[in-house]
Amino acid sequence: MDPSCVIVGAGMSGLTAAGELRERGWNVTLLDKGRGAGGRMATRRMGESRFDHGAQFFTVRDPRFREATNRWQQANWVVPWFDEGGHVRYRAAGGMNALAKHLSMQFDVRTETKVARVEPADEGWRVITESGLTLRAGALVLTAPAPQALALLAACSDRLPSQLLSTLAAISFDPCLALLVTIDGPSRVPPPGYIRPEQGPVEWIADNTQKGVSNGAAALTVHARADFSRDYLEAPQEDAARLLLEAAGPWLGGEITAWQLHRWRYSRPVEAGQRPACLFSRQPPLAIAGDAFGGSRLEGAFLSGLAAAEMIAELGSSD
Ligand SMILES: Cc1cc2nc3c(=O)[nH]c(=O)nc-3n(C[C@H](O)[C@H](O)[C@H](O)COP(=O)(O)OP(=O)(O)OC[C@H]3O[C@@H](n4cnc5c(N)ncnc54)[C@H](O)[C@@H]3O)c2cc1C
Repeated sequence: MDPSCVIVGAGMSGLTAAGELRERGWNVTLLDKGRGAGGRMATRRMGESRFDHGAQFFTVRDPRFREATNRWQQANWVVPWFDEGGHVRYRAAGGMNALAKHLSMQFDVRTETKVARVEPADEGWRVITESGLTLRAGALVLTAPAPQALALLAACSDRLPSQLLSTLAAISFDPCLALLVTIDGPSRVPPPGYIRPEQGPVEWIADNTQKGVSNGAAALTVHARADFSRDYLEAPQEDAARLLLEAAGPWLGGEITAWQLHRWRYSRPVEAGQRPACLFSRQPPLAIAGDAFGGSRLEGAFLSGLAAAEMIAELGSSD
């Protein structure tokens, strides 16, 4: 079997799959439509301020993720942020995206490369990008959120198991509106820099300055609840921003100097019972991974990426 693999998506699941496959002697190429690696491990600049606007932190339960976290902590890539319910919440030093940057350093990651479709070819796969580039590989791992992965497979759906396609089609995601706000002084968000309002449209407010992501005046990330995000996903951004700023008012603490709204169309997979750690099809080798399979968190994405790589590598070694 040709030990080369194209991985679509360089978020936590794609980067984890890449690491495991390379460890097992595979040649790996990652393609991502984003400007950098990381996916929902995202950090954005607005003026002089920096915001984690996707994943805020991660927790650790599985021993394999514990081992990886210990390594990252020793390298000073991640640090504990706070402890809640007996679980440490880790943040990445310099913002969540910095962890993705560290992890992606060792790989061939082609960013700003949007895959348009994938097709079985000979014993492997042909991957065609929107710009017309074609890559061939012995195996394929898709880590884009399930609805996007399904769209990539549309052209070859008659060659794939119907069970795999129907499992993928049944997965839906909640959206999340993320409002980024700068204030002309310190915020009223209590230490260590987060609050979960009990009611209203706001689910979470983080103070990136207290968190250590930004310097100077307060830089807040305000995440809307899923139902509000769904209702206002396509609405004019001023309408959503006004309501979120009103609800976040008690924690702002000063005058708003700037804001930006980011729409996460695929924020968190809607949980629907136990799913496998990844979807897998043998001929030609295809694994579909992501947080929809391992659990709707960074740890789940890590475990799903690992499972995908293990299944592909085992197929190669049984030839
Ligand atoms: C607002 C928000 C808050 C969150 N908070 C937390 C939290 O506090 N703790 C936690 O553990 N988790 C949190 N999460 C969830 C966490 O971010 C995800 O579980 C995890 O990042 C998913 O990783 P992934 O690799 O599966 O997917 P992604 O990170 O989405 O990676 C998929 C990648 O595929 C790429 N892609 C998609 N389509 C194509 C294409 N056609 N061609 C090329 N590339 C493509 C995308 O650009 C993306 O980089 C949060 C998520 C959001 C959005």
